[in-house]
Amino acid sequence: MQYYCGTNSFSAKHNPFILPGSTTHYARDRDYDIQHVRLDLVVDPEKKRLDGTAHLTLKPITENVTRLEFDAVELEVKEVKLSDNKNGSGSRKVNYENTGRKIIVYLDRALKTADNVTVSIRYSGQPRRGLYFVGPDKAFPKKPYQVWTQGEDEDNRYWFPSYDYPNDRTTSEVIVTVPDKYMAVSNGALVETKDDRARGLKVFHWKQDIPHVNYLVSLVVGEYSVTKENVDGVELQYYLPKGREEEGKRSFEKTGQMIRFFSEYFGVKYPYPKYAQVVVSDFIFGGMENITATTLTDTTLHDKRAHLDFTSDDLVAHELAHQWWGDLITCRDWSHAWLNEGFATYSEILFKEHDLGRDEAAYYQMHDLELYLEEDKERYRRPIVSKTYMNPGELFDRHLYEKGGLVLHALRNYLGDENFQKGLKHYAEKYREKIVETNDFRRTLEDVTGRDLEGFFDQWVYHSGLPEFKVTYDWDDNAMIAKLTVSQTQSAELETPSVFQTPVDISFTMAKGVVTKRVTITQRDQVFFFSLPEKPRDAEFDPGNWIPKDLDFDKPKTMLLFQLQGDKNMVGRARAAQRLSKYPTEDVVSSLKDAILKDPFWGVQAEAAKSLGTIRTNAALRALIAGLKTKHPKARRAVVKALGEFRDEEAAKELIEIVQDTDPSYYVEAEASRSLGKTRSAKAFEVLKAALRKDSFNEVIRSGVFDGYAELKNPNAIPIVTEWTRYGKPNLAREAAVRALAKLGDGRPEVSDILTSLLDDQWFKVRLEAAVGLGNLLDSKALPALEQLVSKELDGRVKRRARESIRKIQMGREATDEFRQMREDIDKLRDENRLLKERLDRLESVPVKK
Ligand SMILES: [Zn+2]
Repeated sequence: MQYYCGTNSFSAKHNPFILPGSTTHYARDRDYDIQHVRLDLVVDPEKKRLDGTAHLTLKPITENVTRLEFDAVELEVKEVKLSDNKNGSGSRKVNYENTGRKIIVYLDRALKTADNVTVSIRYSGQPRRGLYFVGPDKAFPKKPYQVWTQGEDEDNRYWFPSYDYPNDRTTSEVIVTVPDKYMAVSNGALVETKDDRARGLKVFHWKQDIPHVNYLVSLVVGEYSVTKENVDGVELQYYLPKGREEEGKRSFEKTGQMIRFFSEYFGVKYPYPKYAQVVVSDFIFGGMENITATTLTDTTLHDKRAHLDFTSDDLVAHELAHQWWGDLITCRDWSHAWLNEGFATYSEILFKEHDLGRDEAAYYQMHDLELYLEEDKERYRRPIVSKTYMNPGELFDRHLYEKGGLVLHALRNYLGDENFQKGLKHYAEKYREKIVETNDFRRTLEDVTGRDLEGFFDQWVYHSGLPEFKVTYDWDDNAMIAKLTVSQTQSAELETPSVFQTPVDISFTMAKGVVTKRVTITQRDQVFFFSLPEKPRDAEFDPGNWIPKDLDFDKPKTMLLFQLQGDKNMVGRARAAQRLSKYPTEDVVSSLKDAILKDPFWGVQAEAAKSLGTIRTNAALRALIAGLKTKHPKARRAVVKALGEFRDEEAAKELIEIVQDTDPSYYVEAEASRSLGKTRSAKAFEVLKAALRKDSFNEVIRSGVFDGYAELKNPNAIPIVTEWTRYGKPNLAREAAVRALAKLGDGRPEVSDILTSLLDDQWFKVRLEAAVGLGNLLDSKALPALEQLVSKELDGRVKRRARESIRKIQMGREATDEFRQMREDIDKLRDENRLLKERLDRLESVPVKK
């Protein structure tokens, strides 16, 4: 699953992940084993109605089972029947109770483990989760009718009764009747289609023969244009909204290449006969890896201009990799979901490395680290495997995805490429069609490599945080010895190890080439000496960037200047560009300018631009203006972003030109608006207003304009931005407008009121952004509305954000209370001090008698 993660604010200390009211979760007990799920459904996209029968074939796990419980939320049950499959005696009605969350079936005889029965539950519903009806309304009259499902984590129970937990696998079959202009797509093979011309209906019969967990059952109904291709015996199917075929080709063109690469790299061939990718509107995730039939958001479809900066490859690779990690092998409970998500996230990197080379992969991974660190610093810190939470959706965060991926990268280095791949292959073979927890993965790797990995998993997976290294370098010219002092400075809070133990490479660049030495870090403070044949021109710590870490490497400026120009390794050049931001000197500015214009990799160009934005001298401004000529749109975007660091009319003038004109890249134009706001130029307001007219891919440009207004901090922007939060504007624009509005709302009760009213919005991301915004405004008047949202919200992500905002406001209030108390204490001390001083003065004025 690819998730949506809103923005958040500041706060230096790490917050705990666990919120009040959380409980500890373990995998669920079960007394039966589902063998087969067969759904017979009638779906009407326009009437938004679902009728059906779920036939659940199962075998008891224990003796004398007299009642069976199924998960079913808010479904209306008409009838429950039971048939014994062993004696073929036909079906009979049985008693049941429907609690609104469970269907409890009371059996007329106790079942034994030797039994095999089918429970048939006839029901209907208008689900609020799990199955979603999309269609036109007054504000969006052209929106096509669609129905799609989203089962993960525990939402399939909203549209069919079942055993809805990932510690059981079953085969499945979906037979669905829809009005005949629609197509219905589900998992596995299309067994048959039948036309019922008289009633204008069509029946689609899908069957998934390889067992899977319940949340992977899916259904999409819509009007589609379908294309197919065959890659190594696998049928690839693409379901695209009519008229968007060209964009679909742009998004999915590498699917075949990916299937071949992953089959080869993981050592296990793509496990199913088909792979469908189905594009839907208003999807609540980026994508969902439903078995053999991935559902994807239509916001990934993009035009040629967006393709300069934007790609669907990462999303496509992610969901495809899940067909192995997640579908063929599934975590047995949510706390181990990094075995799905960390693996899929790392697979994005693996494919990128294969497709575009090491530099693109490494730079993408540096970004993953940033995303994880942002969550770690600004939201909370937790171990990757965390069992205490309120709803499982809370776990689908940057710790599960990005940190999970970074840990696999570290593991690859720890074991070596060959052993890592061998381990993946064995793990996939041993646990295919099974459920797993982290120890299954660890033990498999241990079996294959002979290495004991308890320490590795303990520190990276079961503990939280990451090492914060402070490294210093010295050279002893007489002894010809390089000295590296390595300290770990992380504080041991929230289950963070005070010492991370890890091998690490140290490299030295000499005239003749690079020498790399591997040392092992075992203590908090360590010193390493290296006897070298000549004085190195540069030294680097973990040049391959294998270890997730925060690195502060203090080395001489001469080394950094050499590294920026001379390091063949992109990671080194990017780090040099970052580190040079400490030196606001002419030579540094000129080197960074050269890097923007000449470095062969756009990521280094971007880091150089960022550093010039930090240096912020006149020379740096001129260097950035010269850097606007750079060709790569992502590098140019970084230059434009850095120009926003200057409250300077010259910077504003350049930015205005970009905002008013057309850059080849949507993203550069958007960034120019953002930066223009940051310059606080008097001309910015009107220029931004004009830019609001520009339509763009995924509302990228307007989002930049809203951010520009937020940076401008001009209250006159409030009504303009508010207008764009209204229902009827495109959702992506609305979300950005809500974020910007919250930033404009400091000390303005009217903004709090607008955000509070948006907590009722029908689009979940608007509710989420409004909840986050209210938290950032620290407005305690918003508390009742946030509490109300928590109690009625069905989306776990929104619920979680609302809870975090409540915590933030309460802590803000506590901080204010504490501050007030301190002020009172100080006043009291001042008074006491004054009294003491008066007494002292009086004493001193008394003539001393000798
Ligand atoms: Zn995923």
